[in-house]
Amino acid sequence: MDRYCVFGNPIAHSKSPEIHAAFAAQTGQELTYEKRLAPVDGFAAAVQAFIAEGGLGANVTVPFKLEAVKLAQALTIRARAAGAVNTLHFTEDGIVGDNTDGAGLVADIVNNAGVPITGKRVLLLGAGGAARGVVLPILEHRPAQLVIANRTVATAEALVEQFAALGGEGVVSACGYGEIEGAFDIVINATSASLSAELPPVSASVFVPGSLAFDMMYGASPTVFLQFAGQHGARLRDGLGMLVEQAAEAFSLWRGVQPATADVLQSLRAKL
Ligand code: NDP
Repeated sequence: MDRYCVFGNPIAHSKSPEIHAAFAAQTGQELTYEKRLAPVDGFAAAVQAFIAEGGLGANVTVPFKLEAVKLAQALTIRARAAGAVNTLHFTEDGIVGDNTDGAGLVADIVNNAGVPITGKRVLLLGAGGAARGVVLPILEHRPAQLVIANRTVATAEALVEQFAALGGEGVVSACGYGEIEGAFDIVINATSASLSAELPPVSASVFVPGSLAFDMMYGASPTVFLQFAGQHGARLRDGLGMLVEQAAEAFSLWRGVQPATADVLQSLRAKL
């Protein structure tokens, strides 16, 4: 049986085995996918042990996404742009590092929520690992504007410097929360504020009726950010679809088959 796994610490909460098992059943692929708790100081050894056992690929989650960049012998363009790896592919030529998080976010917004990014004004809140991973996939869809707002403005400015040339003249810009101007078609919360039930200090005026408010976090009840956005007329979307879509992208990289995601997302949602 072909073997895959997800490495993280902690890892008990991971839904990835359930998602990949559903994809395998749906596409008739014979494989196993397990959770592996790697010691905080033992990620590389855990990956090498899995390869020695015959593992063909792995997902990587907190706190190992940066270490996985160093471990990979080759990086895809999007992994290099993100500076983080969430998917490893063990090939005859060595370990290839990819990043499917950004493609997952874009697929969920464009295909599942049915909101095109092309020509739209997009506001990205946060400039940490998750935000950095989504900038390139968003720019590939040619938004009219991408504003990156962060508490620490210098981090957002560094992102703009990295990606400005790709976006086109004046498309990508950085600012602090107090300097955000106008309303946006899509507002993405890529901060970790939701983890501590905090609201990034964004003004209600960024939303207009019909704006899409997206929080990368997911859970049984809406985050404070989604509650706030909902009170100001936005359509709401949490990060569960992104999770399923990033998994689909990894599955397709490993197996060469693109799984359908709607039923898997619906069944995960029912269990939240
Ligand atoms: P990082 O620690 O790398 O970055 C955290 C970001 O949040 C920084 O921009 C930080 O700002 C900002 N921040 C933290 N607290 C606050 C606050 N109270 N108010 C305003 N800004 C704040 O985290 P990640 O980028 O790795 O993760 C961010 C989120 O994305 C997490 O909730 C994670 O679970 C989620 N995620 C979801 C995925 C999915 O598939 N659905 C995939 C990947 C991530 P500053 O720079 O000023 O400190």
